[in-house]
Amino acid sequence: MSTQFKGFSTRAIHVGQEPDPETGAVGVPIHPTSTYAQEEIGKHKGYEYARVSNPTRTRLEQNLASLEGGTSAHVFASGMAAVTALCNFMKSGDHLICGSNVYGGVPRLFNQVMAHYGLEFSYVDTSDVKNVEKAMRKNTKYVWIETPTNPLMVLTDIAAVAKVTHAGGAELVVDNTFMSPYFQQPISLGADIVMHSTTKFLNGHSDGLGGVMVCTKPEQAEKFAFIQKAAGAIMSPFECWLVLRGVKTLAVRMETHDKSGRIVADFLKNSKKVKKVLYPGLPEHPQYELAKRQMTGFGAMITFDLGSQDNANKMLRKVRVCTLGESLGGVETLISHPATMTHAALGEEGRKEIGLTDGMVRISVGVEDVEDIIADLEQALAAV
Ligand SMILES: *Cc1c(COP(=O)(O)O)cnc(C)c1O
Repeated sequence: MSTQFKGFSTRAIHVGQEPDPETGAVGVPIHPTSTYAQEEIGKHKGYEYARVSNPTRTRLEQNLASLEGGTSAHVFASGMAAVTALCNFMKSGDHLICGSNVYGGVPRLFNQVMAHYGLEFSYVDTSDVKNVEKAMRKNTKYVWIETPTNPLMVLTDIAAVAKVTHAGGAELVVDNTFMSPYFQQPISLGADIVMHSTTKFLNGHSDGLGGVMVCTKPEQAEKFAFIQKAAGAIMSPFECWLVLRGVKTLAVRMETHDKSGRIVADFLKNSKKVKKVLYPGLPEHPQYELAKRQMTGFGAMITFDLGSQDNANKMLRKVRVCTLGESLGGVETLISHPATMTHAALGEEGRKEIGLTDGMVRISVGVEDVEDIIADLEQALAAV
């Protein structure tokens, strides 16, 4: 079994990606089927119905479990479908502590859907572990963190939060979408479950939607498999194949994202048009030491402040290499305006509370030639 491979890239390329036993095909076959022929009653090859399992999906789940250092992985139709699956584990009266500055869709799901079923949510600034400790209750089942956060790039100490979460009898779930398993391994720091929107760096080509939950315990695996079967928001075989193909280059993509990310952050820091740059790879980032301790790279995500929405728009209208749009983690540089896009649902008050200003622009640095990205930003910033 190739699960014995130590190197990250070797696992990305070979775990679950073994040549097809029947034909030797190096690419994992896509199995577009709803059902599987059975030989006699109760006698089949382990696959009965495609909502329950699919061979392409099995391969991807083996691959992602290996990359995150988990015991199993379960893929869903989107990142939000994966979060929903976790909520499906909870019963009325259960409590979840969530970071106050996480992906906007997560609190929207918690507050506007899951709260109707009697689930309880508290939001705290998890960058200070004491806030998590204080928020713990007898009925706290999960602590949900994202690090770095979107778009303010605030870090949470995963190991410290894991400790207080476990002391309180709860489990820690880490949304690792921004760093990918290449730069951050939450399970090795004590996390119980790792979540990704595979839509972003794991797939990496802005051409598919998906989510994954990586587990560390057999009980979790059993529950997620049951939710896949019972609720049905599974990832399609084609989308599974896209991610299998995408992860083969995850390491080389992340290396370039990171290298160019640092160059772009430095460029922005030195631009007279930019008021502030939020990037954990800058020594002036208040959590630079933590970033160096718990991440092996700083990644591609940078937020910078142009002082006003008018300035932001002047710049965003002019970009040519960068694509103005939501999302992140693709090979192409994506640039967005959080206040009116990803974080519009927070409202003006909500954004003010977390320090998200109207002048903030978020960039997901792609893998184009960095000179072209810089030249594009330079000419666009000239309009400010
Ligand atoms: C995009 C994103 C999600 C949601 O994932 P979808 O695939 O869009 O449903 C969750 N968390 C983070 C950090 C994200 O960037």
